[in-house]
Amino acid sequence: MKVIDLRSDTVTHPTPEMRKAMSEAEVGDDVYGEDPTVNRLEAMAAKMMDKEAAVFTTSGTQGNLTAVLTHTHHGDEIIVGDQAHILWYEVGGAAALGGVILRTVPNDSGGRLDPSDIERTIRGKDIHYTQTTLLCLENTHNRCGGTVLTTDYTDEVCNLAHRRGLKVHLDGARIFNGAVALSVPACALARNADSVALCLSKGLSAPVGSLLCGRREFVERARKFRKMLGGGMRQAGVIAAAGIVALETMVDRLAEDHANARRLAQGLAQIKGITLAQDDIPTNIVMFHVSPPLSPAEFIEALDRAEVKIGLRDGRPFRAVTHRMVSSSDIDEALTRIEAVCLKLQRARK
Ligand SMILES: *Cc1c(COP(=O)(O)O)cnc(C)c1O
Repeated sequence: MKVIDLRSDTVTHPTPEMRKAMSEAEVGDDVYGEDPTVNRLEAMAAKMMDKEAAVFTTSGTQGNLTAVLTHTHHGDEIIVGDQAHILWYEVGGAAALGGVILRTVPNDSGGRLDPSDIERTIRGKDIHYTQTTLLCLENTHNRCGGTVLTTDYTDEVCNLAHRRGLKVHLDGARIFNGAVALSVPACALARNADSVALCLSKGLSAPVGSLLCGRREFVERARKFRKMLGGGMRQAGVIAAAGIVALETMVDRLAEDHANARRLAQGLAQIKGITLAQDDIPTNIVMFHVSPPLSPAEFIEALDRAEVKIGLRDGRPFRAVTHRMVSSSDIDEALTRIEAVCLKLQRARK
């Protein structure tokens, strides 16, 4: 029985084309700026995001932290959504290593921050205050179910931040999912942000790596912080080669993952004991609850035995993520197994 792994799009393996590109990659020492493949990947990402430059980082977490370090000083305050990945899942790095205060504004169900909340949260000139220097947005929004920030919204919020002297960093780990969902070029979603970090290792299926893009001067300073964080890699062209294939060939197919997520959601909605936690499924993330008598822990354990993997997240809805290694027939098969598990557990309770 095939394991159907819906825990995350990070479980995607490199494609045969990626492995071939990796084995043939031209390399050099990237700390000296001499790896031609890394240089090509960085130039390609900068061009796609319509920014002056880009730097290849080991992960999205390192990209976001590098951005925070580059945009701020110790003791500054930064504004993030209360559901932000930077706040929840990056081990507190911005606070621990960047020395910044993370001030939160509520995310609405679409992953947005209300502009008036942002406005209210930016510190004024009082002698008691630290300075607010950075606003972080996230597109697509992970904890808000893969929701997409539109170009208009992003422009409005970036303009507000800039008017008040803040920089804007966009956590665009899944920005290509957002771009495909809206049928806009990814660069349009970041055109007024000062920096954007994007992941190659999620839906784009590369094994490793992210890119932090922005103005040339910003990226040059970011390179030093990346080095400080241990991200100065040597013959990194071996992994960058897969990233090039990812950017060239894996973006448009994200539409399939979105269609599969909708298919999964429609199927889940038909299963007794399951309720969707989202009104619609904009990209590749589906959030849902199980209702009593099914207990979340019991449900996940039984699913695991049925070779369907979904992460248990304490007190939160379940999250299923579609990706290249799960086909539409795998989705149908997963639904069959999930329904069987629900029925079995419900019967056991009678
Ligand atoms: C996955 C993710 C990251 C970080 O990615 P890693 O490469 O796992 O460090 C950052 N932001 C968001 C929104 C993500 O989903």
